[in-house]
Amino acid sequence: EQIQPGWNLEHSYTALPEKFFRKIELNPVHSPKMILLNRELASSLGLDPDELQSEKGASILAGNELPAGSLPLAQAYAGHQFGNFTMLGDGRALLIGEQITPFGKRVDIQLKGSGRTPYSRGGDGRASLGPMLREYIISEAMYALGIPTNRSLSVVRTGESVIRETKQPGAVLTRTAASHLRVGTFQFALGGGTEEDVKALADYALERHFPGADRAENRYLFLLKEVIRRQAELIADWQLVGFIHGVMNTDNMAISGETIDYGPCAFMNSYDPNTVFSSIDVQGRYSYGNQPRIAGWNLARFAETLVPLIDEDQEKAVELAQAELSSYLDLYHQNWLHGMRKKLGLSLEVEKDESLFNDLLDLMQEYEADYTNTFRALTFQKCEELPFSDTVKFMDWKARWKERLQTEQKSEKEVQEMMQSHNPAVIPRNHRVEEALEAAVQRGDYSVVKKLINVLADPYAHTPEQEAYCSPPPESSGPYQTYCGT
Ligand code: AMP
Ligand code: MG
Ligand code: MG
Repeated sequence: EQIQPGWNLEHSYTALPEKFFRKIELNPVHSPKMILLNRELASSLGLDPDELQSEKGASILAGNELPAGSLPLAQAYAGHQFGNFTMLGDGRALLIGEQITPFGKRVDIQLKGSGRTPYSRGGDGRASLGPMLREYIISEAMYALGIPTNRSLSVVRTGESVIRETKQPGAVLTRTAASHLRVGTFQFALGGGTEEDVKALADYALERHFPGADRAENRYLFLLKEVIRRQAELIADWQLVGFIHGVMNTDNMAISGETIDYGPCAFMNSYDPNTVFSSIDVQGRYSYGNQPRIAGWNLARFAETLVPLIDEDQEKAVELAQAELSSYLDLYHQNWLHGMRKKLGLSLEVEKDESLFNDLLDLMQEYEADYTNTFRALTFQKCEELPFSDTVKFMDWKARWKERLQTEQKSEKEVQEMMQSHNPAVIPRNHRVEEALEAAVQRGDYSVVKKLINVLADPYAHTPEQEAYCSPPPESSGPYQTYCGT
């Protein structure tokens, strides 16, 4: 039993066959300086925030020295990147170990930007400050929104520059995750290993994330079913808040069901299913409206890796896997309907709800209404703020909604409370994120980032502070583009 806060590291992952990882050396940086420390997260991990805030803490979280019990390694994986299969691995990440928290949870602690590894290929293994701060801001915002995600513990400046399109200040981000097992880890096992390797990995994933497997009739089918179930929930969560991941390659989909790999992600402003922010997604493969289907495609790649384990009779195994896969879109859709109901203050399941939701979305698209603010206006009965407020279509829609609310037998107050807790006031608006990063990177002023992180930590609140962060970007800012986190 651990009483004093401190490092409590284990390395269950290293029980996997050696091809799944490489032990790595440290690549110290010049002068680590703590920029952001997530004290609340540190405490929940059983770590001492004051110690992490110290010089030694910055040194550890920059990858200059190891905490007690660490065994630094880089993980191997593969993945379909924009549909093309590639062998990959942590090219600039270092797994410190698995911290066992005071509640007995096992949490991966990983540095990003900590230097070259055997999987770096041509890359420098480093990261620049802007994208690391961006990942911190958005992953923590997702957490506050109640969406499964890896989290950010710290950003440390390295005192070195990295060369990108221009010279940028270097930084190391420390993040925590239920694990870093990816669909791509299974693809690596199948493509770079044997059936035995896939089995070892599947058994490990089951033990780490899906303890119910021992009661299942078919463990590997159970694994597939559970991963599908979690993704169907996760993607619905994304759609409901307008989150666009931007790079849903199979190596960026976690088996645990957490959101991982915050690169070119961004939140949608005006509602349009074709919204894409990532500069490299020219075909719109990972557009907002495509996310549910793409997740299904990724899950099919996952299923393929499990087919050899599901049944000796491969024809039967394929059939069983396909039956699970075919349930995914419906599962997703049920989750989405459920979430939409809450956004509109509804609890009962009524067949006609779907057309009620779709007609609202159609209006939003036609009038380029802000997705987040439309639901917020409906929540606080400020319909006059909506760009379509005086249209006949909306009058009709609103009458249907009010009529539908009648069947719920809820008080007006109950409806509003439900809506408020499912419709955020603040999301990490692109222009707000950019403004904060500019202050940090250009002027060394971290106060704007910290303020933004504070506001985003309470996204459903209804205070003047929250409301001040609600505005969509000014029209003059033009189309927004994101870049793969460098
Ligand atoms: P991502 O697009 O973030 O999913 O990364 C794809 C792959 O490129 C991963 O294997 C990363 O580790 C690797 N990678 C990205 N940036 C760098 C870098 N600066 N140095 C080495 N490897 C990198
Ligand atoms: Mg990745
Ligand atoms: Mg990335």
